[in-house]
Amino acid sequence: MQFKQIIGQEEIKKRLIQSSKSGRISHAQLFIGNEGSGNLAMAIAYAQYINCLQPTEEDSCGKCASCIKYEKLAHPDLTFSYPIINKDFSRKWVSKDFIADWREAILENPYLEYTDWFKRLEFEIKQGIITVNESAEILRSIVYKRFEAKYKVIIMWHAEMLHTAAANKLLKFIEEPADNTLIILLTDSSEELLRTILSRTQQIRFNPISQEALSSFINQHYKLGEEKSAQIAAFSNGDYNAAVRLAEEGGESDYFELYKNWMRMCFAGKLPPIIDWIEIISGKEYGREYRKNFIEYCLRLLRESIISNYADDSLLRLSAGETQFLTKFAPFIHTNNVLQMIDLFNDAHYHIERNANPKLVFFHLSTRVTKLLRTKNVNL
Ligand SMILES: [Zn+2]
Repeated sequence: MQFKQIIGQEEIKKRLIQSSKSGRISHAQLFIGNEGSGNLAMAIAYAQYINCLQPTEEDSCGKCASCIKYEKLAHPDLTFSYPIINKDFSRKWVSKDFIADWREAILENPYLEYTDWFKRLEFEIKQGIITVNESAEILRSIVYKRFEAKYKVIIMWHAEMLHTAAANKLLKFIEEPADNTLIILLTDSSEELLRTILSRTQQIRFNPISQEALSSFINQHYKLGEEKSAQIAAFSNGDYNAAVRLAEEGGESDYFELYKNWMRMCFAGKLPPIIDWIEIISGKEYGREYRKNFIEYCLRLLRESIISNYADDSLLRLSAGETQFLTKFAPFIHTNNVLQMIDLFNDAHYHIERNANPKLVFFHLSTRVTKLLRTKNVNL
């Protein structure tokens, strides 16, 4: 993976290249950001860069012996660690046991999502963990001599899934680093990491991909035209995976259909159809990221409703279908309920992110929204 394959995030690329050139490579780094921001892809490109035998000013060469192994994710001095689930009790499973699946998944999509990873392993349960066995395995791999690389690199995906005992074991390495060995921890929620780990790592925060970069990527790859691509980039909030899903659907968002139907049901206030709707959104075909993105979409439409009520319509960024729907629906969102609505959706987002049961989250949300839609607008 080379830097040039990563969409946007130019500031971070520059910063990493700079630290490598100046020889100040911190041995424990934490890349904080969503999967769709590209933190995993960046970690791989960075590891490839610092090990490249003929790096240029901006990137690894992609051709040297080290790069060739890195391109296949098969360098002997590159170790990956990621959440897994014990398949059975025949042995103590570690990441290494799933490396073939992992390589395949990352080569296919270096912005891999958590739910997709578990789908690929055909695990029903989506709550993986990084076990104590796993950190023992990592510590062992650190002790082994480097085979050939300049730097031995360990990339740990979803480090917040570290079992506490496992995290404590890892601290030992973080406190007493080995020569030319670097660990890059990746997480989307750093508050779930042990504070001791947090304080001992050099942190880099990944913002969502810039709309400009994402939109130009979508346009290049899906040939949807500048306008459509820009719209997709705006809808996906800088998340690569959300943008790709929208682009693959030709840019027609099914969030809108979901949202429209849901709001109509809440407005009617009849429970049975709402329960059916909740079954759909909580179903297996939709993952955590999808539900998060859907809630973000709802928040955006709430904001658009307020703009359409109180400000200039020219500020709206809506498709034709959305405009038509909001013409009728927006008056029910007003100063007397909008703040509560926004709080509710933000809370729901928070809980979904932390793997709360989606049925409970959407049930609570539906009953509250049903009530709030009945709140009178005092200003009318
Ligand atoms: Zn190279």
